Amino acid sequence: MSKTLFEKIAAREIPASIVYEDDKVVAFRDINPQAPTHILIVPRKPIQRIGQAQADDQQLLGYILLKAAEVAKLAGLAETGFRLVINNGRDGGETVPHLHCHILGGRPLAWPPG
Ligand code: 5GP
Repeated sequence: MSKTLFEKIAAREIPASIVYEDDKVVAFRDINPQAPTHILIVPRKPIQRIGQAQADDQQLLGYILLKAAEVAKLAGLAETGFRLVINNGRDGGETVPHLHCHILGGRPLAWPPG
């Protein structure tokens, strides 16, 4: 199977501003930031979207959330706050079919989202 866009970023075949990585996840700055800080954290495992995750991904999914909070802290967002977003499918606004969690912060974020 061919690599997803985010697998290529993780493999450094496509350049990105990587802010954190380990054996399970990679976090890098979004190319089209929607807030002063906009980072994506993705599992190295190419799960297509949260709706496709399986029971045996439970540990990895928890790991992604814990690391997202850690990366937000590293990015200086612990005091002011941040938002984690996972888009799923067409109406959810998903455009890249490799599970990713958006980490957004650096300005007040409106609710509800558009
Ligand atoms: P989605 O819309 O699927 O929830 O989020 C995909 C995100 O990936 C978008 O915010 C988009 O700006 C970002 N993105 C798409 N292509 C690239 C790329 O080549 N590099 C980086 N760093 N981000 C990308």
